[in-house]
Amino acid sequence: MKALTISNLSYSYQADQIVIDDISLDISKGKYVSLLGHNGSGKSTLAKLIVGLLPNYKGKIMIGDLELNEKNISKIRDKIAIVFQNPDNQFIGITVEDDIAFSLENRNIPREKMIDLVHEYAKKVGMSEFLSKEPAYLSGGQKQRVAIADALVINPEILILDEATSMLDPRGKKDILNLVKKMREENPDLTVISITHDVDEAFLSDEVVLLEKGKVVAQGRPTDLFGNEKIIEKYNLAIPFEIAIRNVLKEYKIETNESDTLEDLGEKICQLR
Ligand code: ADP
Repeated sequence: MKALTISNLSYSYQADQIVIDDISLDISKGKYVSLLGHNGSGKSTLAKLIVGLLPNYKGKIMIGDLELNEKNISKIRDKIAIVFQNPDNQFIGITVEDDIAFSLENRNIPREKMIDLVHEYAKKVGMSEFLSKEPAYLSGGQKQRVAIADALVINPEILILDEATSMLDPRGKKDILNLVKKMREENPDLTVISITHDVDEAFLSDEVVLLEKGKVVAQGRPTDLFGNEKIIEKYNLAIPFEIAIRNVLKEYKIETNESDTLEDLGEKICQLR
């Protein structure tokens, strides 16, 4: 079952520009997919198109079996949540509590249940102590946590993270990645599309989609894509830490298995000394 099917999608903001150039792409339900690409390659635009924020595109976008169009947009918005890089533009509530609750408005949820959900999701993102605070006075990382709670509280079918952990320190980033992992374990149908510059983060996903100048130029499992020297060179990609270690071991002709964990690889590196 496909969570998302994009067919021949093209988009430009202005007449003399091509931002999304005839993209066809499908993403299966329950997958965690990273969208990778240099600045300006069209990743954010693609995310905005998927959630119906940019009209007047060419091509077709299907969310599950619903086509993205005016008739279906409100149903689709119930299924997709997006967290942007800069959460400031996303806050509506006066307090963190209001803000998370606002995501649940118009869903016919009894007030008691709504309060429980707000508290549950604030706790999940480590923001329980900040429920009565104004979002404007939080740090960048705390704002991102609230934005992630806003997104997850609606129990979306598709979660899009647009550089959503960029303001977090390594510990905060790890916490959020663990939270997404836990959410996926609790709900194996949850599809996650993550736009990230962080190749180590992309390495954790099921699949990587590489964009360049508005086109999908490569797609595959992280080990295959990051292990492909031609692709790395052609698109000037950084490589994940694990692949770097594997490459060193390969150079020294030490055998590795795909199932080797970072720890296993570390032990093999130690043999080199
Ligand atoms: P990425 O997320 O990969 O950095 P974007 O989707 O943000 O890429 O941008 C793709 C291209 O579209 C860039 O050339 C950017 O300058 C252009 N672009 C983005 N937003 C706008 C806009 N609102 N108006 C005009 N051009 C835009």
